Amino acid sequence: MPKGKTALVTGSTSGIGLAVARALAAQGAHVMLNGFGAPEEIEKQRKSLESEFGIQTAWSGADLTKPDQIELLIEDTLSQIGGIDILVNNAGIQYVAPIEEFPPEKWEKIIALNLSAVYYGIHYALPYMKKKNHGRIINIASAHGLVASPGKSAYVAAKHGVIGLTKVVALETARTGITCNAICPGWVLTPLVQKQIDAIAEKEGIPEPEARLKLLSEKQPSLEFVRPEQIGDLACFLCSDSAAQITGSAYSIDGGWTAQ
Ligand code: NAD
Repeated sequence: MPKGKTALVTGSTSGIGLAVARALAAQGAHVMLNGFGAPEEIEKQRKSLESEFGIQTAWSGADLTKPDQIELLIEDTLSQIGGIDILVNNAGIQYVAPIEEFPPEKWEKIIALNLSAVYYGIHYALPYMKKKNHGRIINIASAHGLVASPGKSAYVAAKHGVIGLTKVVALETARTGITCNAICPGWVLTPLVQKQIDAIAEKEGIPEPEARLKLLSEKQPSLEFVRPEQIGDLACFLCSDSAAQITGSAYSIDGGWTAQ
């Protein structure tokens, strides 16, 4: 269990990352937050985690599309919360367009953040985990790491890549106390998905609730969004001793999306 452990959760100023950070903090982990947003809002989130759960937190606004900032983020995590037992690679962005209209700069940025940043985070954090012979690496992939959808070339390529990378790291660390797994959520109602709902509502000229249902019914048989806290709970399970022999897996939490 994460009590007294140290965790870096990337992209944790919003959505899934924030929920994973909260879940780990609730179990007693000290947490390094990362991501963009209004400084006063981030400071409020940080203070509320500390007061609610009696743990230490810090925040870094490192831009993870820049490898040198990822190296610094790992160093800041070590110096500011005292270690890095748990690394949750969560930060990610989306862009939707057919491939011939997909702007090269969007491709580069999505690959940089959604895939390369996962490599860099692990590359810089693993030596510290190996020294302690203990660690948990959790990569937030997606149902789109397992199956595709049109219009999401960069995202789907990056998320498939994350699952491949997860397996390699699992094999390379198999005889250590470190595990590496991916979580593959279906639709979770966060700002990343809200943008896609708004785009459907605008394109089809339908009200927002109808656009939500349309988005769900195309992919997610449960017709319900996954809640961010459910992903937080799964991450905590993967950090527990019960999960010590789970490594190299891609855990679906998607209301049946990839069972189809
Ligand atoms: P979100 O937009 O709510 O949060 C994204 C976070 O990443 C924010 O904290 C943001 O500040 C941060 N971020 C963005 N660019 C960054 C950068 N360059 N450097 C550092 N941080 C940056 O999104 P979310 O829905 O919570 O998504 C989190 C992860 O979950 C992503 O990897 C996403 O692909 C994945 N995911 C989301 C869903 C979903 O339905 N929401 C489904 C499957 C997978």
